[in-house]
Amino acid sequence: MTMMQTDSFGELVLEKRVVAALKEMGFEEPSPIQQQAIPLLLEGRDIIGQAQTGTGKTAAFGIPIIQGIEDRRHIQALIMSPTRELAIQIAEEIAKIGCNKRIKVVPVYGGQPIERQIRALKSGVQIVIGTPGRLLDHIRRGTIKLNYVRYLVLDEADEMLDMGFVEDMEEIMASVPSERQTMLFSATMPRPILSLTKKYMRAPQIVTVSKEEITVPLIDQYYFETRDKIEGISRLLDAGIEGKSIIFCRTKRGVDDLTASLGSRGYIAEGLHGDLSQAQRDRVMKKFREGRLDILIATDVAARGLDIDNVQYVINFDIPQDPESYVHRIGRTGRAGNTGVALTFILPREFRQLKLIERIAKTRIRRRELPTTSDVLE
Ligand code: ADP
Ligand code: MG
Repeated sequence: MTMMQTDSFGELVLEKRVVAALKEMGFEEPSPIQQQAIPLLLEGRDIIGQAQTGTGKTAAFGIPIIQGIEDRRHIQALIMSPTRELAIQIAEEIAKIGCNKRIKVVPVYGGQPIERQIRALKSGVQIVIGTPGRLLDHIRRGTIKLNYVRYLVLDEADEMLDMGFVEDMEEIMASVPSERQTMLFSATMPRPILSLTKKYMRAPQIVTVSKEEITVPLIDQYYFETRDKIEGISRLLDAGIEGKSIIFCRTKRGVDDLTASLGSRGYIAEGLHGDLSQAQRDRVMKKFREGRLDILIATDVAARGLDIDNVQYVINFDIPQDPESYVHRIGRTGRAGNTGVALTFILPREFRQLKLIERIAKTRIRRRELPTTSDVLE
């Protein structure tokens, strides 16, 4: 499929007052997902958008919807969102895009008195954004009428699924008139999402955008689940990890403790963190760079932006707090086309965090067992 590349919102054939609102918001040019999705949506196609957070999905569906909303005071667009915070955020952004058309937007979500929402819904609303449970509640009460809905959006569909909304989502999708345009956005495409799209969408076009830096193909990634990480890392080192390794800890204190523990077990490792003097840090880095030190133990901050050749292993002694940090850490290995290995230690309760990282970073981290004592002796 060929896609016309556009550099400005003006080229997307949008109403002047919409372009003016975008300008007011500081949107100079469409983001990649907007470039791809907006023309298709303006043509009336259904779309499935697969893109990470922060890529501008709200406006990707918000702009064509605003463009298509007519003056009549009926609900014309229904947007499902997994959380109330997101519903509010989407409502605010869409209201801004639609400000020159005086479009009325209302968010509805659990936790807020329903009477208040009912009053708001009676005032001639054209776009409603809500969590599936609360939307369904209003639909059943008749306080949200679907007869004139022409746009249906499922934002963060995988998230809604994870939160157990699948039945509500299906019921809503089945209730909206079939003469409509459906847009589904999701960071991942698990099977239940695909089956939703088959059942409720019409020949959807798939648009995919990934953040460049978030793909890490040349790095083998494994995790070890253990309650004793010090023992675990000793076994790894004994089993003959060879070459340079960077071990990441969450805190400076953690770096010091691990450096001391490994030292007392006879491994040569040095720490790097922000409380060390610059001279000390330079000395450690020089040794590591020149290959006179194999094991560097560091915090995220200390390791930011380090560009060191031939790091074979990145070891997450503590699992990173967020997916970006994971990608950033493991990016210390596998540089310039070299292969590398990333090993992550998790405590049993950190499994969810690991899964989150996998999902957001769109990567696969496979489980491995720690080498046993006999492996070590061989
Ligand atoms: P996503 O839904 O993909 O996570 P958002 O729609 O929340 O991303 O957009 C992320 C941020 O980028 C928001 O602050 C939004 O206002 C801003 N943004 C979106 N599109 C543009 C654009 N074309 N130009 C400038 N900023 C944009
Ligand atoms: Mg979003």
